Amino acid sequence: MSNIKNIAVLTSGGDAPGMNAAIRAVVRAGIYHGINMFGIKRGYDGLVNGDITAMDVKSVANIIQRGGTILKTARSTEFKTVEGRKQAYENIKKLNIDALVVIGGDGTFTGASKFIEEFNIPIIGIPGTIDNDLAGTDFTIGYDTAINTVVDAVDKIRDTAESHDRLFVIEVMGRDSGLIALRSGISTGAEAVLIPELEVDYEAIMKRLDSTRKNKSSRIIIVAEGDEEGGLVVAEKIQKNFPSYDVRVSILGHIQRGGKPSCMDRVLASRLGVAAVEGLLEGRKGEMAGLVCSKITFTPFHKAIKHIDAPDENLTRIVEILSL
Ligand code: ATP
Repeated sequence: MSNIKNIAVLTSGGDAPGMNAAIRAVVRAGIYHGINMFGIKRGYDGLVNGDITAMDVKSVANIIQRGGTILKTARSTEFKTVEGRKQAYENIKKLNIDALVVIGGDGTFTGASKFIEEFNIPIIGIPGTIDNDLAGTDFTIGYDTAINTVVDAVDKIRDTAESHDRLFVIEVMGRDSGLIALRSGISTGAEAVLIPELEVDYEAIMKRLDSTRKNKSSRIIIVAEGDEEGGLVVAEKIQKNFPSYDVRVSILGHIQRGGKPSCMDRVLASRLGVAAVEGLLEGRKGEMAGLVCSKITFTPFHKAIKHIDAPDENLTRIVEILSL
């Protein structure tokens, strides 16, 4: 039998579609198991400033389909200080909160690890980030929706590129991870994908552009934002090499974070929300709930935040093979 009676949930770091579905799952799973549930506003900021309210079944009604996060999110500098975390601890003690569920990325789990070390509070994490850059889960919540947003945008850009015989360099999100770039590149038939995990071989890219069909109407180059140079510089280099090309740049930006979560993200969020609460009730702490080969797993925070290995080389090869 668990001693946990009160659990609070927060979303932290960058927002991701599906965070609301995860909040709903955490709150309802807690209530299902007889726990009093609380919501913390604006991530660790709300923990430090005591912005914490009780949540019931109705407070998470009609949110599964909504992007963003009803709890809001923030990047809290105060929580990075010992004094800030002490203040946060005092706030949760005042409300008799016994455990936390934190939804976010590597920074969120780093902060949670420190909080556990200092105050021995049970915390379980849920991977909520569009970047898919955590170990211990095949996918993070928000990634599937984000790549589908990118694919939709690139398809539209392809239409205009095709009509005007243009080459578009399209910069996508993903911080240090090229996974958004690589998957969206494959699914939009991009001519090349530049990712931060691999050094850019400009010579090879130029050669490939030169050797592909001369009469190609449109060309798409996807560049991950974490790539050393970014979309504008890449476009400049291509233009210099191919003065006859009509080169344009599109930086997709924050559109990639918004919108209705996909079915896959909603199901993932629902499964991980229930798993996080049940994990806490089984006595787990300091771990991230994830899904590996369709099975729920728990990975210690320090392993989850280790940057995942470079993307599967087969994926980069596929871009090359199929862009003839
Ligand atoms: P995303 O991957 O979407 O950016 P994230 O969780 O990595 O999400 P961060 O801004 O890096 O986003 O981290 C979220 C919050 O976690 C920070 O604003 C801060 O409050 C807390 N945090 C991050 N690193 C630390 C740390 N070293 N010590 C204490 N708290 C931290």
